[in-house]
Amino acid sequence: MNSFMISDELKMVVEQVRRIIEDDVIPAESRVDPDAPELAEEDYQRISKKVRSLGLYALELPRKYGGGGMGTFEMSVIAEAMGQHRMGLYNIGCGVFGRHIPESIWSGTEEQIQQYAVPAIQQGTHTFFAITEPGGGSDPANAIQTRAERKGDRYILNGSKIFISHAHEAEWGVVYARSNPEAGRKGISAFIVETKTPGFTAKPFKVIRTAAIPNVVTFEDCEIPVKNRIGEDGQGLSLALNMLSRKRFPYSATNLSVAVAAHKRTVEYANQRKTFGEYLADRQAIQWMLADSELDIRTTRLLIWDGAMRADRDEDIRVLASMAKVYSSEALGRVIDRCVQIHGGYGVTKEFPLERWYREARVRRIGEGPSEVHRMVIARDLLRAGRDQRKARERSQAATPAAR
Ligand SMILES: Cc1cc2nc3c(=O)[nH]c(=O)nc-3n(C[C@H](O)[C@H](O)[C@H](O)COP(=O)(O)OP(=O)(O)OC[C@H]3O[C@@H](n4cnc5c(N)ncnc54)[C@H](O)[C@@H]3O)c2cc1C
Repeated sequence: MNSFMISDELKMVVEQVRRIIEDDVIPAESRVDPDAPELAEEDYQRISKKVRSLGLYALELPRKYGGGGMGTFEMSVIAEAMGQHRMGLYNIGCGVFGRHIPESIWSGTEEQIQQYAVPAIQQGTHTFFAITEPGGGSDPANAIQTRAERKGDRYILNGSKIFISHAHEAEWGVVYARSNPEAGRKGISAFIVETKTPGFTAKPFKVIRTAAIPNVVTFEDCEIPVKNRIGEDGQGLSLALNMLSRKRFPYSATNLSVAVAAHKRTVEYANQRKTFGEYLADRQAIQWMLADSELDIRTTRLLIWDGAMRADRDEDIRVLASMAKVYSSEALGRVIDRCVQIHGGYGVTKEFPLERWYREARVRRIGEGPSEVHRMVIARDLLRAGRDQRKARERSQAATPAAR
């Protein structure tokens, strides 16, 4: 049996998503500036209402909280369809299919989920996830300096975070802070922080990416009730890292979606554009670029689908998740670069979405863990068995008296 058999139901959902992207999202995007971070509010509301009426909103979230209860594989297949438009890279389907909610909230209590996650799903409001600090993002176990000091039934939060997407427009977010400075990585806890908390500030700043504007966030004596801590004291980092792995497959599928959209457009363009009396499509130099993009796209899809299926079977997918993240973000960069080149000057105009995809794709090799950190995860796994054998050999040699 083909292990990538896609059910008729899933095909139907993908088709519905595709229709909404083509009939509603792409026309709405054409009504705003090519650099606009989001759709016009009335378009967002109208399309997300339609999405909800079709049962397509928040498909990846649990059914009992108003989501669609889709698995990782299903979401990866659907996300490939959701991102095929100008604003596709930052927030699948412009957020009309659901806005991002920090995964750690699902490890919270029922009361936390009802108070924070459920209204965010119902109202489509922004939330944020704050782990990165000015001192570093790749290595949060060492870099987190934000302090959460316990005082009775509250924690007092002091410190700052950087690159926090949506914090200026969110109602709440999940913040990682050091509650026990002596306990290393086991001294970090996760807190739900409301943006109206006195002492909380979020200051947006511009980056190469147009949408999902990042912020510098500061906490000055912010009082957070103990009931807003997610999980146990010191459990924060393990919650954050465990939740991230599965999510990397649909996230990687958003990289794939934009690569697919750019590639399709470029194949068509090569068949229309003539230089020196010949179609670009008839030049071997162009054919090879298109063939390389096709290879990048198909390899990315196989990595994502294989890992996502294993995630649904509860296999250990941490290394496969890193592979999907690295490969999809780097393949996206290569594909978009070729597409821009084949479009010539039109590739860098705001008339086509390529220019925006080209800029936004660059962030994908840094955010959600830089490529080097994911390669480190892959290499560690690859070398672990050999290293353990080497150590065992060294130990047994040390225990055996040397032959003379
Ligand atoms: C637009 C944007 C939005 C973001 N949104 C969020 C958000 O919402 N919430 C959030 O918490 N964070 C967010 N981030 C932060 C992002 O996750 C971090 O930028 C990322 O984790 C890298 O951290 P850093 O920038 O501090 O780089 P550093 O950790 O300082 O690393 C710098 C570079 O060093 C190299 N490097 C690091 N470690 C190794 C290693 N072990 N071996 C070899 N090379 C290495 C890599 O090339 C890396 O790019 C966002 C970032 C951007 C750019």
